Amino acid sequence: MSVYPTYLGLRDLPERVQLLKEKLQPCTVCPFHCGIDRFTARSGRCGMGYAPKVASWSLHHGEEPPISGERGSGTIFMSGCSLHCSFCQNYPISQLRHGQEMSITELTECMLELQEKGAHNINFVTPTHFVPQIVEALHLAVGRDFHLPIVYNTSGYDDLETLQLLDGIVDIYLPDMKYCDDRMAKRYSGARHYVSVNRKAIGEMYRQVGGLTLDSEGLVRRGLIVRHLVLPGDLSGAAEVLRFVAGLSTSIGISLMSQYFPAHRAAEYTELQRKIAREEYAQALEALDHYGLLKGWIQPLE
Ligand code: SF4
Repeated sequence: MSVYPTYLGLRDLPERVQLLKEKLQPCTVCPFHCGIDRFTARSGRCGMGYAPKVASWSLHHGEEPPISGERGSGTIFMSGCSLHCSFCQNYPISQLRHGQEMSITELTECMLELQEKGAHNINFVTPTHFVPQIVEALHLAVGRDFHLPIVYNTSGYDDLETLQLLDGIVDIYLPDMKYCDDRMAKRYSGARHYVSVNRKAIGEMYRQVGGLTLDSEGLVRRGLIVRHLVLPGDLSGAAEVLRFVAGLSTSIGISLMSQYFPAHRAAEYTELQRKIAREEYAQALEALDHYGLLKGWIQPLE
């Protein structure tokens, strides 16, 4: 019989914590593989040391409906990000790194507090550069009757080996697929080989948790939901992203977002200085239909 969340049935959680902590020294936690010692330095691309840095933790009602549910998703916003997207909609937290450093025990307390408040899940936003610390906090929480599903809400630029160590720990993957062209990823996010890294990561997430499944209350219990933010001028390559997802499985959930607005350093790029046009979103919707991706959510275009 399956155990939910799956980490409750894991026997090797302490060993996973150890293996993940070894990836901090030298740091190979994310695909940048900066090689610094995160216990003593914060000179890597994410700018973070060992202590988890958190911008906020609260019940969030604005995620996809089966994640927020009625009571809200227990969202923990991690500060910093290894991707440096020039149009980041969340830049005060991800790029300006607003937040407070805390101990692993304090991170555990945040998780337990949100469980106490009725959260349906714990949703780590931009977790990639803090995976070892998050899993260590989870291990401590499990010893204190923590039992909520873990949502891994990521840019989708994740290290394959790190993800493999999350097998059985994460029940719900919520990654972005930002681009289908490495030149765009380099230009706007400073990431090399984005497409192959991102696609391998999505493939691994699907291998671990499969497509999107909902329980009798309409909540996601386990599965993969891919987010795609349509960029102006189709710079994100919506149809190609959706073609790739459909090739993996049409059971994967899709959240096709129209909410782009020029934020952060978008003003430096003429092509990023406007919202998307109605026709651009309509084309992305057509691709969704064309590839038979029927599980998911679209946004109204204002
Ligand atoms: S987590 Fe940070 S320090 Fe480690 S490889 Fe990624 S960007 Fe570099």
